[in-house]
Amino acid sequence: MNRHTILKAANALLLAGVLSVTWFAGRAFHRMHVNDPIYPAPGLTEKILLSRYHSALRSGPADTEIYLFSGKEKGGRLLVLGGTHPNEPAGFLAAVLMVENLQVEKGDVWIIPRANRSGFTHNDPQEASPQRFVLTTAKGDRSFRFGSRLTNPVHQWPDPILHINPAGQVLSGSDSRNLNRAYPGKKEGVLTERTAFAIMELIRTEGIDLALDLHEAAPEYPVINAMVFHENSAELAAVALMDLQLQNMDFRLEESPPSLRGLSHREWGDHSEAASILLESANVSHGRLKGKTSASLIVEGRDKNYVRAAARGLLFVPFDEAGIPLKERVARHLAAVRSLTAGLGDMHPDREIILHRFPSPELVREKGAEACLAPPNQR
Ligand SMILES: [Zn+2]
Repeated sequence: MNRHTILKAANALLLAGVLSVTWFAGRAFHRMHVNDPIYPAPGLTEKILLSRYHSALRSGPADTEIYLFSGKEKGGRLLVLGGTHPNEPAGFLAAVLMVENLQVEKGDVWIIPRANRSGFTHNDPQEASPQRFVLTTAKGDRSFRFGSRLTNPVHQWPDPILHINPAGQVLSGSDSRNLNRAYPGKKEGVLTERTAFAIMELIRTEGIDLALDLHEAAPEYPVINAMVFHENSAELAAVALMDLQLQNMDFRLEESPPSLRGLSHREWGDHSEAASILLESANVSHGRLKGKTSASLIVEGRDKNYVRAAARGLLFVPFDEAGIPLKERVARHLAAVRSLTAGLGDMHPDREIILHRFPSPELVREKGAEACLAPPNQR
């Protein structure tokens, strides 16, 4: 074999290697853009896409599913958002559990599990976050994407150095991709602002009475285990809190500061009639003190660093070796949605919403979200 032939063979080998790496990387990249399946309960009335409320989103990365459940009888109108921040899985899962179980007797319920759909297609850089976590149902595994707090830069780029959001607040450039800084949205804005505009249009055109945005935050963050309420819903938040305390679930009540602009609990309430509330649960995988970020950290919520931080009084929630597991965080969201919905009907009988087959917070708290998830590929 002469030198020329050896070189040709080496080149061919190198090319084959490069092509196979590219193929595997491309396949992994493509898979991140495919939605994990959600199996709606038989009570589903209609699956809608967000572009119904702003046609500029049609068929793009932000055109997310909305699940509508309508009762036979007219009543109140509820909107629930999960996945505003796709690295906060308790809110997303609470929304999924509602979609997979709910039957509505009276009123209408809109649920958006992946409010920032683009954010589910990537991870936060330099956080070494896992791409997925798995929950095991009686009939198989359900795997879910663990996404990023922000819209994927593949879909919205470049970030400005400073960003003035649609409510006029000056923010860091990357916050131009943060859905919960983009309200009330901008019709001709960047993708995240258009998404916020579409959600705002849904709230206005459907006459939503109660709009809930489900989040998680680090245990060292002061607004935690909290219900952040717009001043239009102070009484409702207080009524729901009393109900939740009777269920052994305490929440911190925080009034939405009028100077903090662009957030759901502020702008939804300022730009519509909807009672607007944001819920936060405590997630260690979100915090700065955590050890290795792994799928088990997301699901089990146990971390030694946080046990030490709690002993030194540095946290805003109690924290011990048992951690704060996903099942506890999802149960808190579900319980709050249930109590707020009941409170709305108690205060305004014409806005009553009667829910059947609501995923039980008690069952989720004891057995995990998997106890109420549909088995994979069964419907
Ligand atoms: Zn959040």
